[in-house]
Amino acid sequence: MSASLDDLPLRDDLRGQKPYGAPQAPLPVALNVNENTHPVPQEVADDILDSVARALRDVNRYPDREFTPLREAFADYLGHGLTRDQIWAANGSNEVLQHILQAFGGPGRTAFSFAPTYSMYPIITRGTGATWTAGTRGHDFTLDPADAASQVEAAAPDVVFLCAPNNPTGTPLPLDVVEAVYDATDGIVIVDEAYQEFAPHDERSALTLLPGRERLVVSRTMSKAFAFAGARVGYLAADPAFIDALRLVRLPYHLSALTQAAATAALHHAPTMLRMVDEIVAQRDRISATVEALGYRPYESWTNFVLFNGVEDSAATWHALYERGILVRDVGIPHHLRVTAGTEDETTAFLDALASVGSAS
Ligand code: PMP
Repeated sequence: MSASLDDLPLRDDLRGQKPYGAPQAPLPVALNVNENTHPVPQEVADDILDSVARALRDVNRYPDREFTPLREAFADYLGHGLTRDQIWAANGSNEVLQHILQAFGGPGRTAFSFAPTYSMYPIITRGTGATWTAGTRGHDFTLDPADAASQVEAAAPDVVFLCAPNNPTGTPLPLDVVEAVYDATDGIVIVDEAYQEFAPHDERSALTLLPGRERLVVSRTMSKAFAFAGARVGYLAADPAFIDALRLVRLPYHLSALTQAAATAALHHAPTMLRMVDEIVAQRDRISATVEALGYRPYESWTNFVLFNGVEDSAATWHALYERGILVRDVGIPHHLRVTAGTEDETTAFLDALASVGSAS
């Protein structure tokens, strides 16, 4: 006889909550969690292995709690004059976001974003005992500076998440929205740039807005463009005082010596690691053009995935694709599905399967 959650003295505010649960099914074509479907290039993999092997010799000792070489490598990669005292990292940007909510959220506080957005924001928020509130988006999931600012002002949250570009919609976020939202709150403003490397190359990052804004933070991840999802490495840039706040809540030695060694080695090969980004962007644009030709309505995407409208029955199409060995994401928006750009072959498999499962509504 096994117990149920109701039998345990669980926190009242966690009762009835659902865990994050994107299906992890062993299908031949997995395009459901916005991974980079290209493996780490061999020459970098060799270097990472050497670096991990060296770290392994000292693995009897705790790692560098301040992960200094890794923070230096992130500062170099990000540019914009950033230095290591403005950098933080953790096991995936999910943990980076959790550190922020542990320091600035918690019981009696609120976090806010504009729905639909990344499904982990409410889960991370509630995990710290804070309350989640969501505002609304305009036409095609876009945000307008004046409307975004007035919603934030009315909600008066302690933490605002701005997903730029937005998951699950792919929508770009203009920097004037970030500026307007920052001015409309006394709270922390997180710009989550998990997909920034897939945006047009001449677009400015919110990193350019950091000087003089000590409540602004820009988070990134190595999971997407860097093809490093399995290694679990996320990071952020902010004012050094903000980094000090995160030191109050992190567990000591939260980044293992092996993680630090792997990530630092990978960052020294950033251009090679990022080599597939242009190819992924080409497949993304091919998906948009082809689903449109099939009668669906894709949204503008600056990410490595495409959300499209016009699916008569999202669950039925999801199942039909599943039967054909293709895993996409039903993000819970009626008549929509989201698909990650794969390799050329994977993308072709998805597009052929979609064409074969029937027509758009
Ligand atoms: N932010 C956004 C917008 C994401 O889509 C994801 C991953 N799906 C993450 C953060 C978390 O990525 P990770 O923890 O792998 O760095």
